[in-house]
Amino acid sequence: MLKIGITGGIGSGKTTICHIFEALGTSVFYADDVAKQIMVTDPVLVAGIKGTFGEESYQQNGVLNNKYIAGIVFNDAAQLAKLNALVHPAVFRAFDTWVAQVPETCPYILKEAALLFESGSYQMCDKNILVTAPVEVRMARVMARDQVSQAQVKARMDKQYTDEQKLKMADFFIVNDESSSVIEQVLSLHQQFLQIKD
Ligand code: ATP
Repeated sequence: MLKIGITGGIGSGKTTICHIFEALGTSVFYADDVAKQIMVTDPVLVAGIKGTFGEESYQQNGVLNNKYIAGIVFNDAAQLAKLNALVHPAVFRAFDTWVAQVPETCPYILKEAALLFESGSYQMCDKNILVTAPVEVRMARVMARDQVSQAQVKARMDKQYTDEQKLKMADFFIVNDESSSVIEQVLSLHQQFLQIKD
C-alpha cells in the first residue's frame, strides 16, 4: 500500500485538504486525533503516562487530565520530549494496525500529522506532502476557528518547524493561500499517486 504523509503548520489547511482526498476515494489516518484517543484507550500508553507524570494524569473516570499534562509539558521541552517518546511510538503502532485493515480497493493512503517531520513519522511514508500558507493567513484562520488570541496561536506555531525547515523534507507541496486552486493541486497529486502505485 502506497503511504503518503501530509503535514503543514497549524492552520495551513491540511485537514481540509485531506477531506478532498477522501472524496477521491483514499483513506486518511488522522494521527493527531488518534493520539488523543489512544492516550485514553491504549493500556500500555496509559500506564506509561501515569508512570512518568503521576496518577493525576487521569481523572477517576479514566479521562485524560489535559490541564494537568499541559501544565507540565507546555513550557518544558524536556517534559514534552518525554511525553512524545511515549505517544509517538504508540501512534506508529496504531497506524500499522490501521493500515492492515484498509480495503484493497483503496488506491493509496494518507497519514495526516501536524508533527510528521518533527516526530520522524515521515520516514515511514513513501512520499510526503507539505501544505503551505502564509503565516498571517494561518494565524487568522486558527484565531477564527478556535476563538483564541494571536499570542496563543503564536505559542503553538513556535513549537513547530518553520515551512523553510519542512520544505527540505517534503516531496510534494500544496499552496493553500486562498488564491491558488487547491482542488486542481489535489487532483494533480492524486493522478501522480495513482501512477506511482501502478
Ligand atoms: P491544525 O494544524 O490546527 O489542525 P489544519 O492545518 O488541519 O490545522 P484546517 O483545520 O484544515 O487546518 O484549516 C484551518 C481553518 O482554515 C479551518 O477553519 C478551515 O475551514 C479554514 N480553511 C482551510 N483552508 C481554507 C481555504 N482555502 N479557504 C478558506 N478557509 C480555509
